[in-house]
Amino acid sequence: MEQTSKKTIVSLKDIFIKFDGEVILNHINLDINEKEFVTILGPSGCGKTTTLRIIGGFVEPDSGDVIFDGKRINGTPPNKRNVNTVFQKYSLFPHLNVFDNVAFGLKLKKMPKNEIKKRVTDMLATVDLKGYEKRSITKLSGGQQQRVAIARALVCDPEIILLDEPLGALDLKLRKSMQLELKEIQQKTQKTFIYVTHDQEEALTMSDRVVVMNNGVIEQIGSPEDIYNEPVNAFVADFIGEANILNGIMLDDCRIQILGKELECVDKGFGKNTPVDVVIRPEDIEVTAPEDGQLVGIVENTTFKGVHYEMSVRCGKCEILIHSTKSAEIGSKIGMRVIPFNIQIMNKLLPFYDNVIETTVTYSNQNDNSFEFELEGETVTVPDKYYEEGTKLKIALPPDALSLAGDGVGDLKDLYIESVVYKGEQNEIILESDERKWLMLSDTDEQVATYVPLSFDFSKARFEVISEFSEKEG
Ligand code: ATP
Repeated sequence: MEQTSKKTIVSLKDIFIKFDGEVILNHINLDINEKEFVTILGPSGCGKTTTLRIIGGFVEPDSGDVIFDGKRINGTPPNKRNVNTVFQKYSLFPHLNVFDNVAFGLKLKKMPKNEIKKRVTDMLATVDLKGYEKRSITKLSGGQQQRVAIARALVCDPEIILLDEPLGALDLKLRKSMQLELKEIQQKTQKTFIYVTHDQEEALTMSDRVVVMNNGVIEQIGSPEDIYNEPVNAFVADFIGEANILNGIMLDDCRIQILGKELECVDKGFGKNTPVDVVIRPEDIEVTAPEDGQLVGIVENTTFKGVHYEMSVRCGKCEILIHSTKSAEIGSKIGMRVIPFNIQIMNKLLPFYDNVIETTVTYSNQNDNSFEFELEGETVTVPDKYYEEGTKLKIALPPDALSLAGDGVGDLKDLYIESVVYKGEQNEIILESDERKWLMLSDTDEQVATYVPLSFDFSKARFEVISEFSEKEG
């Protein structure tokens, strides 16, 4: 078999860009190899398209370098880069037939007619559209139009093809077959494909390597297998395929506690008694008799999925998802076993659990027993608690003291939802305000990359006086 070349063809070095004062790409670094199919994957708004547009030359970064074949190409216009783009809305010319659409770029280059004919005919054969030369664009199906767009991008023989959600407009069935076709076209033509999608299955199916992005940063780069089997954190584990993501405590090397039980794992180097995130894929849980299980639970739901049964099992407060060829009755008690190798340990997304605010009391109201402090330009009132004006305080808000407020209310406005990870019991949500990140728990699903107002429940907070001012509590 031919060895995949590892020559780097394009590099992004420390790319940083803001739009309207907001950081869109936060110092990203990425090397893409020749002849590679690389997919940039991430939720809506995470910066995938911007990354692609920077490579294509449609957007200039505020800082950082774009290197093509060893040369810095910042400032080089798109048509001078050895790159071609396929957009989601193919941008084909409806008044031209298939041949003329594909030939368009070559005609602009004033290539001899016979050479154009040969190239276009060859390229149409590559994308499986032989015999469609005279067909009007408007008489083609979505999948065929997509292939014309790809042929048009490839015919000029660029080194790199950029594809921005090119299958987004197709229905699911067509999309699946086009995924395989695209991969085949890439292998036939031996070009570098850089593909943008928010669909994880698409990314895993087609790519040599997947770049997982979130909120303007690259979370992980790896082969589809690496990303699936060894996610670096709960965001990646959750985004790529189905996963049980649980809170755990790394007791020591190779010893993890989850759901109150101690299990053996293979990971080391997390220290002792360290809170971690643990991922167990549904297919890695073996169903046993209750007495043989490391964990025991009650089956709450079971659905036959063709190859396996999907079961939802209640284990204390937690819900565990299992894919098993064995089924179990709803309401029955089962045991669950996981081999150490299949327990994946990850650092928590945030280095803190409680949200700690250090602040100074700006106003005290003895009459109604409350005080105020300033937080990121907002005045926050703490009811049922009294500290003298000027007291320096540390306020620890556990994640369940935070909740999303209705429009127009809330202690803080416009927090950005960076990630939502279901932890078998509740969603763990990471929010970003102007100055910091917040950890919140929620029973409801929230949409990432949207803005929400936040309320604090100070009855769940812990207060600690930092500086020596007189303190009176009501
Ligand atoms: P999607 O999957 O929804 O296309 P994406 O991951 O490709 O999302 P980008 O299109 O790169 O995300 O956009 C990232 C962020 O930058 C978004 O919040 C978007 O609104 C913002 N953005 C993109 N282009 C511009 C622009 N020209 N001016 C201002 N903001 C922009």
